[in-house]
Amino acid sequence: MRIVLLGPPGAGKGTQAANLVAELGIPHISTGDILRAQVASGSPLGLKVKSILDSGELVTDEIIMEVVIDRVSQDDCKKGFLLDGAIRTVLQAKMLQDYLAKVGAPLHKVVQINVPDGVLLERICSRQEQTGVTRADDNAEVAAKRLKVYWEQTAPVADYYAQAGLLAKVDGVGTVSEVLSRIMASLGS
Ligand code: AMP
Repeated sequence: MRIVLLGPPGAGKGTQAANLVAELGIPHISTGDILRAQVASGSPLGLKVKSILDSGELVTDEIIMEVVIDRVSQDDCKKGFLLDGAIRTVLQAKMLQDYLAKVGAPLHKVVQINVPDGVLLERICSRQEQTGVTRADDNAEVAAKRLKVYWEQTAPVADYYAQAGLLAKVDGVGTVSEVLSRIMASLGS
């Protein structure tokens, strides 16, 4: 199955993606993880995007789509893939649709996990304590910025996929397993 996961920062995309790929046996592709690994390794791409990641802004569509298309064209994605946070603007969505149409491997479903803003801010700000992982972009100021960017630039992506008949909306409030069951149901699995 070829799936795109949408949802604001703090909606639980990473957690749900990890569970979904375990259920479905497909690779988990998180552009955030890929970019953070590039930053950590000090590669030219990492150096280019570090300050953007720290600010909560989006990396350019060109850079992201090079990363995404390079990844989905690898052999392990022949059986499908789960794109987690990898499509964040309408232009990125269009570029991915064009590429997948060209290679004859269209998306099966786009799942949007919805959580109210107040809950999101709380979750993002407590993520550092819960996971013990320090992310430079997990502080209140940058969290608010990332939510603003989501509403302005990423929310319209859901409308684009709805028009393409691919969108399923899932309520992201509840336990991890409740939300996972809703997502699996929306995939028809
Ligand atoms: P994430 O871990 O998915 O929240 O991503 C962390 C950061 O990586 C984002 O705040 C953006 O700066 C950047 N990023 C990840 N995916 C994308 C994308 N599809 N488009 C633009 N920027 C992205």
